[in-house]
Amino acid sequence: MSYCQSPGCQKHSVGYSQYCNSHKARAGRHGHPLQATITAHRLKEYVQLVRGWVARQRQDNIWQLLEGAWAGDVDRARGILAEYRAGRPSFGHEVQAANDLVKVAGDVPVRRVVETVVAMCVMQEYEPRTFKTDAAFWCQVARRFRGLSDVHVGSYWDNTQGRVKRVYRDPKPQAGIALGRMLVRSLGPVGHRIILTEQAARQRVADARHALAKALDGEARQTA
Ligand SMILES: [Zn+2]
Repeated sequence: MSYCQSPGCQKHSVGYSQYCNSHKARAGRHGHPLQATITAHRLKEYVQLVRGWVARQRQDNIWQLLEGAWAGDVDRARGILAEYRAGRPSFGHEVQAANDLVKVAGDVPVRRVVETVVAMCVMQEYEPRTFKTDAAFWCQVARRFRGLSDVHVGSYWDNTQGRVKRVYRDPKPQAGIALGRMLVRSLGPVGHRIILTEQAARQRVADARHALAKALDGEARQTA
């Protein structure tokens, strides 16, 4: 008998797993046994930060650029599905991820997708410890993305069986990881850009405060 490898857990591990039943389930859904779920509510402040940043951009075509980046990702996912349908060798979890991406993309306004995915990337940079591993982060990105749509039923065309196959609402972690990676591919760098802009703005405020304090200090000395 061996014990669950999740820190602090004293239950026995099950089968060939290194975790107990509940940690195994959590690792499967979230990519890590101790990864907390990021709810829409939890993400809200970052979505607002992204909206604020977009609104402050001087380029009129900022949405066009963001939507263009996303459209490229959707096209790549369609390409994966086309290859799969043509019978070319494919990775199951990649096909599942591409299927989910295309499905949700067809059901949800582009801006909501962009705001959500970019907000997750910003959150990861601001609170790196919220995410146990990169895999756990990608799983959470995938979950928030899927959560944007309720038409998602997790079905896809199974080429070998020649029929539509249904999968669990919570697919295998590899599919979540693959989906998360696809989602952050173009939009992740936008999140990074926002972080840099915010940091620069904060630095400017700090510098101005410092200069003002110095000036007031000099003035006080002159009048003394
Ligand atoms: Zn456990």
